[in-house]
Amino acid sequence: MLRARSRKTPAVRPARTTGSAVRLTQVTKRYGHGESAAVALRDVTIGIPTGTFNAVMGPSGSGKSTFLQCAAGLDRPTSGIVQLNGQNLAELDETRLTEYRRSRVGFVFQAFNLLPALTVEQNLILPLRLAGTAADSTSVHSVAKSVGLSGLLRRRPAELSGGQQQRVAIARALITRPQVIFADEPTGALDPDTAQEILHLLRRAVTDLHQTVVMVTHDPVAAQHTDRVVFLSAGRVAERLDRPTADQVKHLMSELRRTH
Ligand code: ADP
Repeated sequence: MLRARSRKTPAVRPARTTGSAVRLTQVTKRYGHGESAAVALRDVTIGIPTGTFNAVMGPSGSGKSTFLQCAAGLDRPTSGIVQLNGQNLAELDETRLTEYRRSRVGFVFQAFNLLPALTVEQNLILPLRLAGTAADSTSVHSVAKSVGLSGLLRRRPAELSGGQQQRVAIARALITRPQVIFADEPTGALDPDTAQEILHLLRRAVTDLHQTVVMVTHDPVAAQHTDRVVFLSAGRVAERLDRPTADQVKHLMSELRRTH
């Protein structure tokens, strides 16, 4: 006799992550409870291949920030599994998660988030100091050089242009040689030429250093620099576009806004 199948929902199992720097498996994120609950991510399953440049796009409120927060281990999903380079983040307590983030993940934000009282060099080595690692001056100078900051190391953020400040933020994200860099609208506060330079730096992190970049952006021109765009709509992955052109991205964005 055949046994009746269990009607219980099977537990979500961590996926095999070969080749994926970031993997979300059936991730749902709910804020609040009961009638006032907002579901920001609904059953999202996606793998982001190692050594690729990715954009996350979607209408306002579609879940982009929540996606980034959960994927980067800054917030925990309500259900489902997030893996960074195969590590299931749910297995790490808060202390180990913080350590893991500090050593494996880099962040770049729209508002640069530099500490105004510190020099460029001090800002740059901050992640190493937080991780309790000594900063060797050769690698500090080589990272500074790679983003065009040599000669500016003794300045304070207020003495730099917006583009230079974002270069410091990128150098700071690169200094620990993280496996994944999460960027939240990194070009949102920059003029188009400076934005291009920043996008080229992120691209170089991928091609030269084999890092993985996940960037939230509203800008179809910025998205054009990436290998793949993931479009979110109402907390779900609605579309993916490989080797996107700005026109394709614009078209898909207006479709999603129309149907949202
Ligand atoms: P996006 O970045 O695409 O604008 P978000 O991830 O910020 O989208 O938000 C997705 C949904 O989750 C929205 O409906 C938003 O109102 C809700 N949301 C986000 N953060 C919170 C929060 N801390 N508390 C309650 N609701 C939230």
